[in-house]
Amino acid sequence: MKTLGLIGGMSYESSLEYYRIINETVKELLGGLHSAKSLMYSFDFAEIESLQHQGKWQELAKKVVVAAQKLEKGGADLIVICTNTVHKVADEVQRSINIPLLQIVDATAEKIKKQGLQKIGLLGTKFTMEEDFYKGKLTKYGLEVIIPEEKERQVVHDIIYKELVIGEIKEKSKAVFIEIIGQLKTRGAQGVILGCTEIPLLIKQEDVDLPLFDTTAIHARSAVKYVLKT
Ligand code: GLU
Repeated sequence: MKTLGLIGGMSYESSLEYYRIINETVKELLGGLHSAKSLMYSFDFAEIESLQHQGKWQELAKKVVVAAQKLEKGGADLIVICTNTVHKVADEVQRSINIPLLQIVDATAEKIKKQGLQKIGLLGTKFTMEEDFYKGKLTKYGLEVIIPEEKERQVVHDIIYKELVIGEIKEKSKAVFIEIIGQLKTRGAQGVILGCTEIPLLIKQEDVDLPLFDTTAIHARSAVKYVLKT
């Protein structure tokens, strides 16, 4: 088994999920007392969030590059950035290291394609929903992406940064998400990407009748498959 290099703390609420799913998947696949070999570099999310909202992506990229290089030096064979939004700088991080970086959007798009869906809703931070670094990659897989209207995008963004990243799970916010997923369905979405690694803490598949793509679980499982097969 190879060693995973996890870049986490964005937020630690979802890093906990990555750690749990990765180890549970290894146990499920190998049985016995097996668990994953991994290293984690965990950020102080306050610093990351502040750089994001000030638009200082270059500074943020430098921090993530340093983290990835430290993990590589420490013996990691694969880098996993445990969040969607920070994939805005993923290509730059990949260029600065000599080991592969498994991008969350690739793992997600492959899963959607396997299920034969084409028109897909996307929920995440405003950075993820509105900018091209994420949607553009989905489009390259031949997927048509639908995002919520502007007002709803702001609501989703605020619930992520004011509640989910600090572990606040509220019934009221869950109802808001269910309503927004319903609107995406009405506009033709055949499934919805939970494109923020904390959204699966709020919304589960049983809450809606549209197929949901949980990026945390998809990314974590795909990373395990990589380290077990190579
Ligand atoms: N974890 C979230 C995501 O998947 C948001 C936090 C962040 O800005 O990284 O996008």
